[in-house]
Formats: sequence, structure tokens, C-alpha cells
Amino acid sequence: MRVSDLLGNQPTLSYEFFPPSDEEAQRRLAETLEELSQTGPSFVSVTCGAGGASHDRTQKIVVDICNSQPFPAMAHVTCVGHTRSDIVALLDNYAAGGVVNILALAGDPPDGSAIIGDFKYAFELVELVRSHPAGFCVAVAAHPEVHPRSLGRNSDRQHLAAKLNMADFAVTQFFFDVDDYVRLLDELAALRCDKPVLPGVMPVIWPKSVRRYAEMNGSAVPEGLFSRLEAFSGRDRIEAAAEAAWELCDKLLAAGAPGIHLYTLNRCEVSRLITNKLPRHKNTIS
Ligand code: FAD
Repeated sequence: MRVSDLLGNQPTLSYEFFPPSDEEAQRRLAETLEELSQTGPSFVSVTCGAGGASHDRTQKIVVDICNSQPFPAMAHVTCVGHTRSDIVALLDNYAAGGVVNILALAGDPPDGSAIIGDFKYAFELVELVRSHPAGFCVAVAAHPEVHPRSLGRNSDRQHLAAKLNMADFAVTQFFFDVDDYVRLLDELAALRCDKPVLPGVMPVIWPKSVRRYAEMNGSAVPEGLFSRLEAFSGRDRIEAAAEAAWELCDKLLAAGAPGIHLYTLNRCEVSRLITNKLPRHKNTIS
């Protein structure tokens, strides 16, 4: 099932997971997947580690999900630091495993190091994935608050529009203000790009960690919300984080978002609470 075929009149719901690094984390992901599969997601996606370090683990999880669940799994593939033949071999393996959805990303070079390998930007990977005989559905990343390595807002949007016009849809970095999403869509439309852009929503279960990610991504943090969440702990924080994330989802859907992509951090409680409040989504159960 190609994700692009699911993006239509009814909003989609998708969950993002990361590959676990040890047995305990693996057990937790299996439980999360079991729990969230009951919500009938439209699709899920699985990240790969910085520099593509976990491509093998990502591949195993994505292929397992595609072969055991009624919904598709999309593989995150990063290209910086890799050779063209590495990536072609990876795509061949994905095709052989029945995977049809690829999120094509640049990835980040390790701290302070020069970019090595055959790729510098995600659009080069999009071209390669597009040329693969499997006919993958291709997604790309979008940064509503502009990518931190960008030289300027205009050039960032021009590069994004060119990349997205070669792909099927985009998934965004997390952000907390619906206006950032609306502005991104307006800027893309002005550049004649009207491909679907799925907003990525990060529930703030761990404010300290999310602050750190936000700093790396150049995402502005709403201080009022973060201080409020920092004052809670345990179940109270989970409920408050779900409430805040749901409010953003509600505004995004009202603004015309084609669905919601939830960053789960491999936990099910908060995603479950948000999903219960969302309107009926295009799911794979009924
Ligand atoms: P690009 O589209 O290449 O953009 C990177 C920068 O280069 C931008 O500033 C852009 O404006 C600029 N640029 C683009 N094209 C050109 C050009 N032709 N000339 C000059 N400048 C150009 N990282 C991981 O390691 N693993 C993951 O699983 C992962 N998943 C992600 C999922 C989502 C939804 C998002 C939003 C990000 C994810 N990332 C992941 C992070 C991502 O790899 C980094 O943000 C990376 O720095 C940029 O990736 P990109 O695909 O947006 O790159």
C-alpha cells in the first residue's frame, strides 16, 4: 500500500518509531506497536540512526511490520556518508522485502566532520529512489521553521519545493505553532508546489529532551507550555502532554492538514490518549 494513495479526503494517522538499541527497548517497542496497531493507523514509519548507523535494524523492523500488520511501514533512508552502491543495495533489499514507502533524507554528518560519500543533499537521494525499478512511493522531510543549515528562508523554500515536487509528499519536523505550518504551505504554494505535507507532532512527555531536540532542529519552544509540563510528573504529565498535542492536532486538521504524524518516542500512552480524541481517520481496520 503506497502512502500517497491514502492521502485524500479523510485525514491519515501515522506513528513514528525509532529502532531500539537493546533488548529492554526492543520489548517496549513490541508492546507499543501491539497497543497502537489497535488504533488502526494509516501507516507507521521507522527512523534510522544518525549517519544511517542503524539501516540494518530499521530494515528488519520495517520489513517485519510490512509482513505482519495490515498497515504499511515507511523506511527512513539517509544518504549523507553513503555511496551510491550502498544505497542501491539497501533499496534492492527493501523492494525484495515488500517495502514500497521510503522517506528520503539527507541525514547529518557526524559532528564537525566534512561530508563524505556520494551525496550531499536529500534531492539526490530522491532522484535515485525515483529511478529504482520498484517504483517506490517517496516522501521527504520539511522544516516549517526552516532547516538550521539553511542560508536563508527563501533558498530553503526553493530547495524544498524542488525536492518535494520530485516526491509524493512531505513529513515535517516537529513545531508547536500552527502558523508555522500554514506559512510553510503558503510559501510552497507560491513556488507552485502543492504536494501533501503531513505535520509531525511531538507530544512533550520529556520536556528536557524535547528542548534539546528543538535546539538542534531550530524549533521554537513555547516557554509557557514547557514550564507547565515541567511542573507535572507521571500520569499527570502524560495527560497534560496529550492535551497540548491534541490541541495542536485539532488546529492543524482545521487548517487543512492531510493527517497527523505522531512522534511516539516508542511510547504508547500519550499517543493512545491523543488518538482517542482525534476524529475518525483513514485506517486499516474497518
Ligand atoms: P535536505 O533536503 O538536503 O536539506 C538540508 C539543507 O540543505 C537545508 O538547509 C536545505 O535548504 C539545503 N539544501 C537542500 N538542497 C540544496 C541545494 N541543492 N543546494 C544548496 N542547499 C540545499 N535524520 C536521521 O539521521 N535519521 C532519520 O530517520 C531522520 N528522520 C527524519 C524525519 C523527518 C520527518 C525529519 C523532518 C527529519 C528527519 N531526520 C532524520 C533529520 C534530517 O536527516 C536532518 O534534518 C538533515 O539535516 C536534513 O535532512 P533533509 O532531508 O531535510 O535535507
